[in-house]
Amino acid sequence: MDRTLVITGGGRGIGAATALRAARAGWHVVVNYARDEAAAAAVVAQVRALGRQALAMAADVADDAQVQALFAQVDRAMPPLGGLVNNAGVVDDASRVDAMSAARIQRMFAVNVFGSFHCAREAVRRLSTAHGGAGGAIVNVSSVASRLGSAGQYVDYAAAKGAVDAFTLGLAREVATEGVRVNAVRPGIIDTDIHASGGQPDRAQRLAPQVPMQRPGAADEVAAAIVWLLGDESPYTTGAIIDVSGGR
Ligand code: NAP
Repeated sequence: MDRTLVITGGGRGIGAATALRAARAGWHVVVNYARDEAAAAAVVAQVRALGRQALAMAADVADDAQVQALFAQVDRAMPPLGGLVNNAGVVDDASRVDAMSAARIQRMFAVNVFGSFHCAREAVRRLSTAHGGAGGAIVNVSSVASRLGSAGQYVDYAAAKGAVDAFTLGLAREVATEGVRVNAVRPGIIDTDIHASGGQPDRAQRLAPQVPMQRPGAADEVAAAIVWLLGDESPYTTGAIIDVSGGR
């Protein structure tokens, strides 16, 4: 395999774990990031140490122009695109819906939903046989929040991930005969920085008793499902949404 995988938000957490697993599976990797250049650079160094090509590329996935520039740079600087992981995502502080600002709600959908659309559109334009591409795979990172609703925490986030689920089903069927598979993983409570970014650094450990397996998941446990969905071992799997949640 001599194909490039773009991972949005690939510098930290689930994205970073996916970059390393994908590199071990033979992918060259583009590590997209929003702000944390040092974290992305560290992942790039680890991917290169595994013998694969890697570049860190800054882009806010919510900004369509930045996403188009990102994929144009991938075209110029990397082997042909073979896959995309729409992993970049944000939460916000715990809040009821009746206390949410419009700016917060818009950001939640702009990053988690519109960002996934922007990136998937650019990927389909390059991967689909209808566009002269050689096929490939897209994995969207949703959340079990899409079926739990996250009341009193972040219903905006849960609803955005619900949109990601529907996007996965629809896009998968749209491109099913064009060599492009589209699937999603829905992580449960995974031990990453995202909980601190929502003002709850202890959330993963605190909620462990609510998980049937009685523990949070590790980023690499989610990455394993993502890389399986990207690869040749899942050729008949499309439009699937796989929970990686310890039974939650
Ligand atoms: P994380 O550790 O907070 O990392 C988030 C990553 O997304 C960072 O690399 C960040 O870039 C990037 N990012 C944020 N906004 C971006 C933007 N506008 N444009 C480009 N990149 C952006 O999060 P995580 O826990 O690994 O989460 C990864 C995905 O899993 C998200 O979609 C999240 O919703 C989902 N998820 C996580 C959990 C969990 O419990 N951890 C559960 C369910 C679903 P910088 O490094 O530059 O800041």
